[in-house]
Amino acid sequence: MRERFELRRGDALGRIGELTVPHAGRTVETPALLPVINPNLRTVSPARLEAEFGADALITNAYIIRGTEDLRERALDEGLHEMLEFSGVIVTDSGSFQLSEYGEIDVTTREILDFQRAIGSDVATPVDVPTPPDATRETAEADLETTERALADAEAVDTGEMLLNAPIQGSTHLDLREAAARHADATDLDVFPVGAVVPLMNDYRYADVVDVVAAAKRGLGADAPVHLFGAGHPMMFALAVAMGCDLFDSAAYAIYARDGRYLTVRGTKHLADIDYFPCSCPICTSHTPEELRAAENGERDRLLAEHNLHVSFAEIRRIKTAIREGTLLELVESRARAHPAMLDGYRTLLDHAERIERHDPASKGTFFYCSTESARRPEVVRHHGRLTRLDAPDCLLLTEGNSPSDDRFDAAWRVLPPFGPVPRALSETYPFTAELPDRIDPAAQVAAARGVVRLVAANPETSVTLVHDDWPASALTPIPESVTVECLGRRHTGGVDRD
Ligand SMILES: [Zn+2]
Repeated sequence: MRERFELRRGDALGRIGELTVPHAGRTVETPALLPVINPNLRTVSPARLEAEFGADALITNAYIIRGTEDLRERALDEGLHEMLEFSGVIVTDSGSFQLSEYGEIDVTTREILDFQRAIGSDVATPVDVPTPPDATRETAEADLETTERALADAEAVDTGEMLLNAPIQGSTHLDLREAAARHADATDLDVFPVGAVVPLMNDYRYADVVDVVAAAKRGLGADAPVHLFGAGHPMMFALAVAMGCDLFDSAAYAIYARDGRYLTVRGTKHLADIDYFPCSCPICTSHTPEELRAAENGERDRLLAEHNLHVSFAEIRRIKTAIREGTLLELVESRARAHPAMLDGYRTLLDHAERIERHDPASKGTFFYCSTESARRPEVVRHHGRLTRLDAPDCLLLTEGNSPSDDRFDAAWRVLPPFGPVPRALSETYPFTAELPDRIDPAAQVAAARGVVRLVAANPETSVTLVHDDWPASALTPIPESVTVECLGRRHTGGVDRD
């Protein structure tokens, strides 16, 4: 049990947690966003990040500070918190990114950890090797060996109250990611960044991001805090949280701003193309796009960066609200509509529905069926698992219609797409109070049919009559011949032609 990280509320694999950071004397509520501070180029000052944006934590690069003489002297002399004017949690990176960019750096894990401790970092990072996506297996394995040595070195260093990151690498080799996570989890290090995913995100490979995170999560205990290193676009926060990521860092807010790019939860826009701001943050309500375009370069970058931060922090608050309400998957579903690659990410998340189901709360608010993907949600998987264990009476009516008492049957159960048969005793419980569109789609009907098949298979002695509401052949074909099938025909008797 990791005593530094306490889980409060969960939804899918997302959770609200509290990470205690002893050296800072602070607790950070997760999911949390850590703005990246370039020590040489402060687009928005850390003091303002804390006071105006509510940032509890930030991340900066100890390798750059160490390599820049005046910064190094000041950091050693004043300490990082005073130098940056930030009283929250400061996480420091080690130069691994520079290692991946330039092939070598002039510092070892022991040296950089000693330096991070000396400047008063709250959470430090060893020198791991970020292996890019699609690397050969040999490269990924060799890099992992180096990373594992770095973690062992980190365990051996006296770091006092400072927490330590244990980065998880392995490129896009999912078994290596899982093994790396298992190895990291077995160390006594504290926080688990999933590394080298930025190239995947830059290429909109959200499906691969989901698989990489899922592999890391398989190797980690549920109580391990997970940092998705370099993930700074608010568009994908909900998806990543639903996969179990707790910490994010954003350099994007500043980097994008310098390039005239405006972040939204539905993607990125260019300031040059914006006629109206679709946002109600302080920047967007007090400026027009025209005014921002006319601002001096430095001023424009700062204003854009501030908007980018506002929209990013707002999304984190929205996600926390969704976790509390039990509507995180509905939020992911709506974000998935912003871009086909996000939809791939969500569909890939649903490939992991069985694993998600094991952690998903048994009861939430109301299940909203809002897309064909809803038919694959963990709640549906859970009910289908339960149907294989349910005892049915000898003679059972399954119906989508009203079930007036009919003594030909021992019981009448409702059939509710996408879940399938629902025993009367469960019908008022989550998720069977679901809200469905009147115009239900074949994906929900096929899923409901799958539920019928499960129940029939588990109760071969039961005589089952299924009364469905105009199911398509794709739903009816798998129903065993032993089931008597009737059609309600409701859709053709209402006098409204809906097709
Ligand atoms: Zn704005």
